[in-house]
Amino acid sequence: MNSLLVATHNVHKKEEIQQMLQGQFQVKSLSDFELLEEIVEDGSTFHENAKIKGEFCYLATGIPSLGDDSGLVVEALEGRPGIFSARYASNHDFKLNIEKVLEELKGEKNRKAYFVTVLCYFTENGPKYYEGRVYGTLLEENKGVQGFGYDPIFVPDGFDQTFAQMDPSEKNKISHRRVALDLFLKDLPLL
Ligand code: IMP
Repeated sequence: MNSLLVATHNVHKKEEIQQMLQGQFQVKSLSDFELLEEIVEDGSTFHENAKIKGEFCYLATGIPSLGDDSGLVVEALEGRPGIFSARYASNHDFKLNIEKVLEELKGEKNRKAYFVTVLCYFTENGPKYYEGRVYGTLLEENKGVQGFGYDPIFVPDGFDQTFAQMDPSEKNKISHRRVALDLFLKDLPLL
């Protein structure tokens, strides 16, 4: 069976992808390798960052690799936090990052935002990209305790609950990551 290296140390991400691929690949993650060099994620777009990760892993191992980058894009904030989503106020402190976004949106009527995931599948043929988005609205305060990141303030279009109020399996059916992975899966027979 062909291997696929997912450019993450995050076991949950690896398992999510493994489940969706339903045995079509033997999925590995960075934790299966002793790669000493740190990946420097210094791109200025989601696409650049996804490529940096996918390319690094492919060049280090020779195994077809999937890099990903995700974030929240807020219309009234000219796209921020965008690629800085994980460290907008403070590195991986979800509470402070949400507070900063809500503070910047104080009094703002336009609450439109979307989550985006860009996947970069990197092989000897170079990069191929798959992008998933989910559009929605930002609340003025947190609701719900599930999920992570900006989930407590994001209500996807067509729903009346935040991602953090939804059952994780419901969120995973419509999430930006899901849409991007579905596009990758659809393309697989052609790769
Ligand atoms: P990553 O590229 O998947 O690590 O995501 C970067 C950052 O974007 C995360 O640390 C979160 O702040 C935000 N983010 C990405 N996906 C989600 C999501 O599904 N819900 C909430 N926040 C997310």
